[in-house]
Amino acid sequence: MVDVRSFGRVKVILGKRNGKYPYGNSILVEDDITALIDPSLMIREFSGQVMKRKVDLLFNSHYHEDHGAGNSLFPEVPLYIHTLDAPALRSLDTLFAFYGMDEEATAAWKPVVVEKYFYQPREYLVELRDGEVFDFGHTRMRVMHTPGHTGGHCCFFFENEGVLFVADWDLTWFGPVYADLTSDLEATIASLQQIRALGAKTLVSFHEAGICQENQYDVVTRYLAIVYEREKLLLDFLAAPRTLEEIIKRRIVYRKDYAIVWIDAVEKNSMLLHLRKLMEEDRVEWDGERYLRRG
Ligand SMILES: [Zn+2]
Repeated sequence: MVDVRSFGRVKVILGKRNGKYPYGNSILVEDDITALIDPSLMIREFSGQVMKRKVDLLFNSHYHEDHGAGNSLFPEVPLYIHTLDAPALRSLDTLFAFYGMDEEATAAWKPVVVEKYFYQPREYLVELRDGEVFDFGHTRMRVMHTPGHTGGHCCFFFENEGVLFVADWDLTWFGPVYADLTSDLEATIASLQQIRALGAKTLVSFHEAGICQENQYDVVTRYLAIVYEREKLLLDFLAAPRTLEEIIKRRIVYRKDYAIVWIDAVEKNSMLLHLRKLMEEDRVEWDGERYLRRG
């Protein structure tokens, strides 16, 4: 049974397990033009129940495997993704170059992306630009480039319905994820401030938080605060000199150890962004081997 929430012609197809990874919440616009955004595994499993009409346009908020798990169901439909993320959908090797995992994690994860998330390289893509507006008939959608999670991560704003699809700025307790080689910490902060300033009536995230219609400003503020909690944990840890390896094992992002193949990559890529920021601010120094808090 599929749970669908409607905002006029904009439908949120709620993912299984409350949209927890590997599932997620997809958006279906049923208008003169039918558009599907971030087709999750749900769309594959329940396409007969939710897809009553032919899909005309397909959108991905960014290149991550769980957001495009349903892409290959629609090989003939134009697929829109931001210019900076498009190369990852054209080539599996580029996707993994963007992830920035080590060799072992790459070898373990590559077949999963193909077999479990149905990744198929797609040569023909339409590249999105910030501020672009789509008119589906009665529904208009504005593209908001909100980088940081990936270089080309986009949100989609349905102004008349007051619905902002925030994709993987997912407002969960885990906090913002900036763990790829295309991720950026300053851009993460700026994107979340932009989302908060927009003041949309309804925020829809791809994962768990789902539909947020209360205290949106505070919800985004709390989510953004997790960036600074991680920064504080890192600074506390750097009261003594630490190598990058020691920082990775401290699990500042995950807070404890999990048997996840990419956990080292997430910790490493995220911590390198924090360290770069702190060094630019002269709050941390590096002696070529170890990092140490100043003062
Ligand atoms: Zn993502």
